[in-house]
Amino acid sequence: MKKHLGYAHRLDDDRRIKLADFDPGEDAGLNREDAEKQTAGLIEELVELQELLYAVGSQSLLVVLQGRDTSGKDGTIRHVTGPLNSQSCSVDSFKVPTEEELAHDFLWRVHARTPLAGDIKIFNRSHYEDVLVGRVHKLAPKEIWSQRYDHINAFERLLTDSGTIILKVYLHISKKEQEQRLLEREKDSIKSWKLSVNDWKEREHWNDYTAAYEDALSRCSTKHAPWFIVPADKKWFRNLAVAEILRDALTPFKKTWLKQLKETGQERKKEIDEYRRNRV
Ligand code: AMP
Ligand code: MG
Repeated sequence: MKKHLGYAHRLDDDRRIKLADFDPGEDAGLNREDAEKQTAGLIEELVELQELLYAVGSQSLLVVLQGRDTSGKDGTIRHVTGPLNSQSCSVDSFKVPTEEELAHDFLWRVHARTPLAGDIKIFNRSHYEDVLVGRVHKLAPKEIWSQRYDHINAFERLLTDSGTIILKVYLHISKKEQEQRLLEREKDSIKSWKLSVNDWKEREHWNDYTAAYEDALSRCSTKHAPWFIVPADKKWFRNLAVAEILRDALTPFKKTWLKQLKETGQERKKEIDEYRRNRV
């Protein structure tokens, strides 16, 4: 049987990619019901792994979520990381920078929100906005934004050298699916809070964003901080692929974590035994 390499496309070297080579509608031949069953199983494993990550407390996990408007960043957070223990998992959303943030370097606000040891942090948008919207809308001159890829790689290296596991997820939707989702929002009064004329305006820059994403994904994919292209036209497949990315990233540490916890447990037990002996 062919080895299952994952539902998402992992990028971990500086090979140039073209988004057109990846099908946003991919579903690995699964149906919704089977995919949702698999996703539930993966999330169960993830909850267990989260507890170990927290208990050992020497590493952390950072998940960077990027994607065009309506690509499903909020939905992914709700379905995949929503079930995790909120004691040690949180989300930070990056919006248009404040005046104070703009008065610092672009990584300042991001660095301040990286996960504590033992924790999981989800970034809903991230430092990549500064080479995406920042580049497309010329918020910074080319001399400035073109240096940022190196700054990002160095920053992510610092984080991984300090015990953070980094996963970067690009939710890949088609232009057609985006149009449908934007139109859906206009019909659904509960989703109306998400309506924004900006989304239609941003859509006019579709090709510029494609170029910007292709550069970010090509130049900032490394072994220690890989990008994953997640086919996201089908929400249930997207959830499955993201749940699998997280589970697969943490699983290799499980054995070591369990061993460490056993050792710590034995040491603590010894202290308690000694305390009891000395009391009588
Ligand atoms: P939303 O995610 O829909 O709440 O929108 C957040 C908005 O903030 C998006 O339009 C982003 O492009 C924008 N944004 C996030 N980070 C930056 C940044 N570094 N520079 C400029 N705009 C940003
Ligand atoms: Mg939006």
